[in-house]
Amino acid sequence: MAAEDLPLKELALVYLDRTGGLHKFINDCIRYSDSKQCLAVYRFIICVNPADLTELDARLGNCVLHQPIRAAHLFQSICFTSIKTLSLIQQLETENQVIVVLKLTHLPPLPNYSLNLCQFPRGYQLLRYYKVEGVVIAMTTVTKYTQGARFLCSESSCPFSTGFEYIRVHTVGATESATVRNDFTCTLCNSALKEDVKFRVLGDKQLVEIIDAAALDVIKGNQVNRSCSRYQSFTVFLRDELPNRMKMGNRYYVIGIPAHIYSGSQLQLCMEANSIQPWFTNDSPFISDNFKYLLSITSTSPWRFTAVLADIFAAQIVPPGTYNILKLSLLLSLVQTRKNDKQTLEYLDLLVVTSDPVTVDRLLTYSLNLVPCGVRHFPSYEMFATVSKDEHGTGTAKVQAGSALLAKGGICYIGELFSYRKDKLDLLQTVLETRNTTVFISGKKFGEDIDQQMSFPIQCNFWALADADTHLKKAMQREDAVFGSMDISSVPANLVDGFGLLIYCGESSNYHSPVHLIQHVLSEAMNPGKPLYPALQNFTIQDYEKLLAFARNQQTELTPEAERLIQGYYTASRRVRTDPVHGSKISPTALKAL
Ligand SMILES: [Zn+2]
Repeated sequence: MAAEDLPLKELALVYLDRTGGLHKFINDCIRYSDSKQCLAVYRFIICVNPADLTELDARLGNCVLHQPIRAAHLFQSICFTSIKTLSLIQQLETENQVIVVLKLTHLPPLPNYSLNLCQFPRGYQLLRYYKVEGVVIAMTTVTKYTQGARFLCSESSCPFSTGFEYIRVHTVGATESATVRNDFTCTLCNSALKEDVKFRVLGDKQLVEIIDAAALDVIKGNQVNRSCSRYQSFTVFLRDELPNRMKMGNRYYVIGIPAHIYSGSQLQLCMEANSIQPWFTNDSPFISDNFKYLLSITSTSPWRFTAVLADIFAAQIVPPGTYNILKLSLLLSLVQTRKNDKQTLEYLDLLVVTSDPVTVDRLLTYSLNLVPCGVRHFPSYEMFATVSKDEHGTGTAKVQAGSALLAKGGICYIGELFSYRKDKLDLLQTVLETRNTTVFISGKKFGEDIDQQMSFPIQCNFWALADADTHLKKAMQREDAVFGSMDISSVPANLVDGFGLLIYCGESSNYHSPVHLIQHVLSEAMNPGKPLYPALQNFTIQDYEKLLAFARNQQTELTPEAERLIQGYYTASRRVRTDPVHGSKISPTALKAL
């Protein structure tokens, strides 16, 4: 190590001493020493706050941020000197056996430290830290990798046939075959080196694929932002303590070092993760002034505000006052979504039976855009999860998220329910009941000794629609639908029960006459872009989006009146039908939230 590094080493030691890092390091050493185990390498984690470090000495801070390998060597040298001076680990012989991992608490919030997955060319440098942000779309099983291995000279008279001179450690961007190979030669006598396998140290490894959150707009069925035409997923390597820290469908910040990895003939950009943080947003949701005013003039009745909200909702798609029950249910279902893993949540799945699937489909697609995670699922996509082989030379099983996993904390709209094959519907029914999906990973196929299963919670509301003309009995009394009793015997009853709420919107019901809708569609087609209802212009889709975001974060409780109402409804519906509508209990809580 160069002489100019000496002052930096002193400063690094001062930093370790001040932050308590030295104390932790000594404890780690004692643990290794007590275990009496002789290993190829000894690994130490040192937490570094770049801001504090730069405050102490700008050169040292700069070195850690921009030359991570050199910085790790600095700390490695300090650690080795400390171990030898204080005789902390008896069985440790050479500096090569010390691995130091610097864990950064954060990166400076400057544009040069973040790597945008959408921008191309990306303009990054290898071997320095960047922060990326993305949603997890696929992950592999957790497998082992070699942290460090000991090699010995095969010539028994050579001094390097014993000792710990040849230590191979994993470095950023290296594949397993780069760390451990059989074509190394001794620098003294040029004989072949062979590994002393019993000293090998293994660590955990997991590959996670992330993609820019903006890419989720594509699966919403939205028009894609034209300024960005390139969405490419990106593989992050999680090692040692990081595997299993990222959950499918969640959004994270990852601090790490970009690396190029050859897989076959292709060069791929990947990232070795240093630390992971869940994504968060700083803008707190609020209610727009227009809605505040509306709330103030409707506050005399607990129901009025909600009723008006539903009445004027989606005026771009259907005329105000039509499809009110459906629109109210959509709003309730949109509110019943949450991203937080900790909160247990009631789900509100909707099955809409309608004689006008085209309009209802437009309405549902429109509503999907009001939550950050709304996914439009098509029969050609995978709904839950698929297993494939990882392409980064590891050969492990990789599980890719389907629509429902990507819609985590949001809505998965699957369109016409009966366009799916029976096996898919059976699977959907199981998921609706258990809120969980499990994939089976054959050990034989992916080079593992045992078969594995991976389970993923399904945390989204499902929306589906069914064409009434095909699935309702022709002889049915249409008027019955108003009272909630109708014959849908052609539809599997278990599947229908799986959905929390069944809504019937027929043309002939009293609530909407087709004339309004026809007028609406015609005038929209003749004057595209012109607002049809100028009075409603004040309530934009963004206002609804913010209101929903606000309502989603509210804690709600049942008022005594609401409880009485539900009980009344329950007993009344028991009288009318033998089967109460499952899931109806959720709505008043959400109503209050709205
Ligand atoms: Zn040799």
